[in-house]
Amino acid sequence: MRSELKFACPKSILDITETLFRIQEEVAFISGGTDLIIQLNSGQIKPACLIDLSQISELNYIKEVEGRLRIGSATTFTQISESGLIWEKARCLAQAASQVGSTQIRNRATLGGNIAKASPAGDSLPALLVLDAWISLLGPQRLRRVSFAQLQAGEGAGLQPKELITEIDFPVAEAQAEAQIVSGFAKIGSRTAVTIARLNMAVWVEINTGKERIRGVRWSVGALGRIPFRLIELELELQGKLVNQDLARQIADRLTDAVDRAIPGRYSQEYKRQAIQGLGYDLLNDLFPEQMGDGR
Ligand SMILES: Cc1cc2nc3c(=O)[nH]c(=O)nc-3n(C[C@H](O)[C@H](O)[C@H](O)COP(=O)(O)OP(=O)(O)OC[C@H]3O[C@@H](n4cnc5c(N)ncnc54)[C@H](O)[C@@H]3O)c2cc1C
Repeated sequence: MRSELKFACPKSILDITETLFRIQEEVAFISGGTDLIIQLNSGQIKPACLIDLSQISELNYIKEVEGRLRIGSATTFTQISESGLIWEKARCLAQAASQVGSTQIRNRATLGGNIAKASPAGDSLPALLVLDAWISLLGPQRLRRVSFAQLQAGEGAGLQPKELITEIDFPVAEAQAEAQIVSGFAKIGSRTAVTIARLNMAVWVEINTGKERIRGVRWSVGALGRIPFRLIELELELQGKLVNQDLARQIADRLTDAVDRAIPGRYSQEYKRQAIQGLGYDLLNDLFPEQMGDGR
C-alpha cells in the first residue's frame, strides 16, 4: 500500500535546506500549484513529500540591483504584469506575464514554476531567452548559477532532482549613445479565455533613437519544438537594417523558414507557417507603429 503524501511548509530558504537534508525520498516543490496539482491528480508524478514554497517571502520580490533585474522564483505572473519596473526595463516579460492563462491562473502561477515545468509553450521562456536571463539554483549539495539557455537545453546543466530555482536575473541593458532598447512579446493561443500558446515569440531590439535602423536584435520563438529557441541567423541578418515594410516581408519569410526547419512534416506545419508570419507582423507593428503603417 502507498504511504501518505507528506507536506512540508518551510518559512525560509534555510528551512528548505534543512527539509531537503532531512527527507531522503522523492520530493516535489509546489509553488502556485497550477501545473503540479494536475500532474499529481493524473498520477504523472508520485512524490513522497511536497514542499510548499508559497509562504517564503524571500522568494517573492522584483528589484533592480547593480544593473540587473532580480526576480524571486515564487513571484506570480500577476505581480510581474503589474510591476512598473518590469514594464519599463523588460517589456517583453511584462507582456508575456499579462497573457498567461486567466486572472485566476496569473494570481497563482509563478515564474519559477513556469521555468521548472519547461513546457515548450511556456510564455515566459521566449522572453527570458531574449533578455539573456540567468537562473540561481539551490540544491542539496550546492548553489549554482546557469544561463537560462543552458538550463533549458539540459545536457547536464538541466534542473536536477531536489534543486530549487531561487532567482531569475538579467541585465538591464543600457543603450549606446543615440539608441534605445525596445522589446515585445506576442502569442497565438488555442482558446481566448485560457490561452496555452500554439506559438509565442519575443523580440529585443537596440535601435537608433528615430527607430529607423536596427543596431542589435535577439529574436526567439516558442511552441515550435521541445524548447523555445533563438533565431540566430535572422538576428545576424537584421543587424544594421532599416525598419520598413520590405524588411517586415523579409522577416516573415525567414520566420516561415524557421517553421519548416523546426517541424517538417508535422500536422501543424502548414498552420504554423501562416501563423508565425502574423505574429511577426503583430510584434513589428507593436514596436514600430510609425515605420510599419498597417504592415500587412
Ligand atoms: C488553465 C491553465 C492555463 C494555463 N495557461 C498558461 C499560459 O497561458 N501560459 C503558460 O506559460 N502557462 C500556462 N499554464 C501553465 C502554468 O500556469 C504555468 O506553467 C505556471 O507558471 C506554473 O507555475 P506554478 O507556480 O503554478 O508551478 P507549480 O504548479 O507549483 O509547479 C510546476 C512545476 O515546477 C516545479 N517548481 C515550482 N516552483 C519551483 C521552483 N522554485 N524551483 C524548482 N521547481 C519548482 C514543481 O515541482 C512542478 O514540477 C496554464 C495552466 C492552467 C491550469
